[in-house]
Amino acid sequence: MYQNGHVATGFGINSVGKIPLGLKRKGLRIVVTGGAGFVGSHLVDRLMARGDSVIVVDNFFTGRKENLLHHFSNPRFELIRHDVVEPLLLEVDQIYHLACPASPTNVVGTLNMLGLAKRIGARFLLTSTSEVYGDPLQHPQVETYWGNVNPIGVRSCYDEGKRTAETLTMDYHRGAGVEVRIARIFNTYGPRMCIDDGRVVSNFVAQALRKEPLTVYGDGKQTRSFQFVSDLVEGLMRLMEGEHVGPFNLGNPGEFTMLELAQVVQETIDPNAKIEFKPNTEDDPHKRKPDISKAKELLGWEPKIALRKGLPMMVSDFRQRIFGDHKQDAA
Ligand code: NAD
Ligand code: UDP
Ligand code: UDP
Repeated sequence: MYQNGHVATGFGINSVGKIPLGLKRKGLRIVVTGGAGFVGSHLVDRLMARGDSVIVVDNFFTGRKENLLHHFSNPRFELIRHDVVEPLLLEVDQIYHLACPASPTNVVGTLNMLGLAKRIGARFLLTSTSEVYGDPLQHPQVETYWGNVNPIGVRSCYDEGKRTAETLTMDYHRGAGVEVRIARIFNTYGPRMCIDDGRVVSNFVAQALRKEPLTVYGDGKQTRSFQFVSDLVEGLMRLMEGEHVGPFNLGNPGEFTMLELAQVVQETIDPNAKIEFKPNTEDDPHKRKPDISKAKELLGWEPKIALRKGLPMMVSDFRQRIFGDHKQDAA
């Protein structure tokens, strides 16, 4: 039963072009797996603001209820504690599949969500990653590049998990006619990011605020391209509503070495913050920068927020969470 009055089969392949506007007026029923996490909770904010009904499915492995508290009293919002490794029965129009720890459960969760999409005729969006390019031999990375991943390396569980997720997604598309979308997300930062998950932006920001040295791994000359979370969410929604399967790179082409990033963090938080060099992790990609021509052309999307503009917004959130917590501890 489709509680908001439209059947998911309305997503027939031939009618794709007409769907978004018509359905938007009625309000869609949307599942966001991993919706209690960093990216997912921002996506939920946008979908709720648009008037959709949103079901978040999350096992709180890394996500937090706090990220969604402001929606709890809204009847259009529902939160289900569920591990996507277990089958799930729901009736919805769209599935944003973000739930993912860095482990093989990724593959089983994706299979279940694809099975769900197939049964109910919902459109399915996979949040894949720039990690599918591995330590890339092409720079910047274009979607047609097949990547350079060490299949037995320490990072391969995540990388190969997402590559398999992409494979499954395309197989369900070709074999079962499921409408799918694939986003390859490049490094994203912003408010609500996990404070202690070891990512470079969250590490540097937390370290600078706590007056600890910024830990630069290796020589710090490796590069990454950092995207602000609201730019990503806009790209995910355009991809879901548009008519192109992808994969699409969603990232900010502004490329920084880790030493340059440390410098931006110093400028933003504490010019006296010290830098401490530490050994790098194995198989660390040397550089990464998205070619976003395809998303620009077909989704009309490009990021708007440069690192120096986005970082201060993340810093205020981190400041509040770090020092807010300390006050509670002391009390
Ligand atoms: P996050 O850890 O903040 O969010 C992931 C969410 O999924 C969490 O709320 C977690 O509790 C939930 N989850 C994990 N395993 C689950 C399971 N088995 N069942 C149900 N829920 C589960 O991470 P994020 O940064 O918001 O990432 C969201 C998605 O985007 C992920 O798929 C990630 O691989 C992808 N991605 C993120 C980035 C980035 O830079 N943030 C880059 C590339 C790809
Ligand atoms: N699945 C689910 N919810 C559904 C439909 C399927 O979680 O509404 C799961 C199902 O348990 C299975 C997976 O999705 O493990 C793949 O389903 P599919 O029907 O494609 O495969 P089959 O069950 O035929 O092997
Ligand atoms: N890195 C670093 N200091 C840290 C954490 C990470 O210099 O405290 C480096 C890491 O070696 C890598 C880059 O920052 O080269 C990005 O790491 P992250 O884990 O954030 O993202 P990913 O490697 O998955 O792109």
